[in-house]
Amino acid sequence: MENKEVQRKLFREIPAVNDLMQEKAIQQLIAQNGEHEIKKVIHQVLDEIRQQILSGKLTAVNLSNVIEMINTQSHLDNLPSLRPVINGTGVILHTNLGRSLLSPAIEEYLNQIMFSYSNLEYNLAAKKRGLRYHHIEKLLCELTGAEDALVVNNNAAAVMLTLDTLVPHKEVIVSRGELVEIGGSFRVPEIITKGGGTLREVGTTNKTHLQDYQAALTDQTGAILKVHTSNYRIIGFTEKPDPAELQELAHQAGIPMINDLGSGLLIDLSKYGLPREPLIQEAVATSDIVTFSGDKLLGGPQAGVIAGKRELIEQIKQNQLLRALRVDKMTLAALAATLQFYRDPAEALKKIPTLQMITIDSERLKQRAEDLASSLSAINGIQVATVSGTSQVGGGSYPGYFLPTTLVCISPRSGYYSSTELERLLRTGEFPIITRLEQDKVIIDVRTLQNGDIQQITARLRELFDK
Ligand SMILES: *Cc1c(COP(=O)(O)O)cnc(C)c1O
Repeated sequence: MENKEVQRKLFREIPAVNDLMQEKAIQQLIAQNGEHEIKKVIHQVLDEIRQQILSGKLTAVNLSNVIEMINTQSHLDNLPSLRPVINGTGVILHTNLGRSLLSPAIEEYLNQIMFSYSNLEYNLAAKKRGLRYHHIEKLLCELTGAEDALVVNNNAAAVMLTLDTLVPHKEVIVSRGELVEIGGSFRVPEIITKGGGTLREVGTTNKTHLQDYQAALTDQTGAILKVHTSNYRIIGFTEKPDPAELQELAHQAGIPMINDLGSGLLIDLSKYGLPREPLIQEAVATSDIVTFSGDKLLGGPQAGVIAGKRELIEQIKQNQLLRALRVDKMTLAALAATLQFYRDPAEALKKIPTLQMITIDSERLKQRAEDLASSLSAINGIQVATVSGTSQVGGGSYPGYFLPTTLVCISPRSGYYSSTELERLLRTGEFPIITRLEQDKVIIDVRTLQNGDIQQITARLRELFDK
């Protein structure tokens, strides 16, 4: 038969909407979800079937398959929009997938705080109103060496609040090599202007000297701002002054030195083979205010920390904007519990998933990849292999740096799905599995897999191929 004829025949086999609505299984769905909703789902599924016929992927239309597709689609439509996914990309701080995972070890404490009343803003001993920030100040000061600290919604908010408080209507000096953009909407020049300040650029992209900062100082200057170039690197013929020199210069001018560190690193990871990144403690020792993220590298919840000199933090606490940027109790509890681990760095490396995934031994990754491959080996329609590859830390941190890992490559055998289709099916199921698609293979980097993920991936692939 001609192709066109086959298609025409298949089109004729598509059941009519009204007939489908009379089916017992569909009647049940209607009873649960309403006629309007299910009619929409039916139209969506029939459209999908027409597409599949046109692209030659469907060779038969049978009623029970159509009903099953409607059932599945209706089930997917009922799931919450925000739900867990399996991260098979190997990107640890994946911005699209929620950046850091909280430590399972803090789950019980978080449950207590979330589902009970708490002394969030109550001083139990003094029987009077307290400040929510108090619960975390001591710990932050102990870990960073700061005199005082404050937590807000995210690091962008931390920078904005700091500038809004300390340099309104004044000039902020920034090196041209540090005019950073983070993830589209945080751009240093705009943040300064939004905070009511004026940007005073100095130096060049690759080289900025202490002299350049010095020459820009006037009685209009409100602060020197140093921004950690956390998501790009300038290499080659480069120079910038030490933070300590900048701080000294700022002090001579009677203004603060603000240091936007962005990524919150408290433990030196260079002994795990990673490039040296500035630590929060070092930044605090050489700056008046340091801002950093609660999740990016630190491994806690989304939050922004402002740490530094007491007198300045005191001023920031008085800013009316703080109310708009304040953190909720869930964030505060998660951050406090995460920071608690850092009192013992060995404990932090063991208990905080972000740090675990960055520092995990490559032999263990190889073993995990082999476990996944062997779990998948009995599935008929795919060919599975392990190869060495690389992962990225992500979230814009450690730019240009790749961690060695082992990848599991899945190639569908001919007659089954294409790799592109397989990637989509894994991504759009009830338990989405996010993979990489490279060189016509579906690739899973086991670095970011969690407990139970191997079983779930295996179950999903079985469901797709053993039918
Ligand atoms: C990540 C980052 C920010 C923004 O932090 P969020 O927590 O995403 O708001 C700001 N500055 C620098 C240098 C960063 O690295």
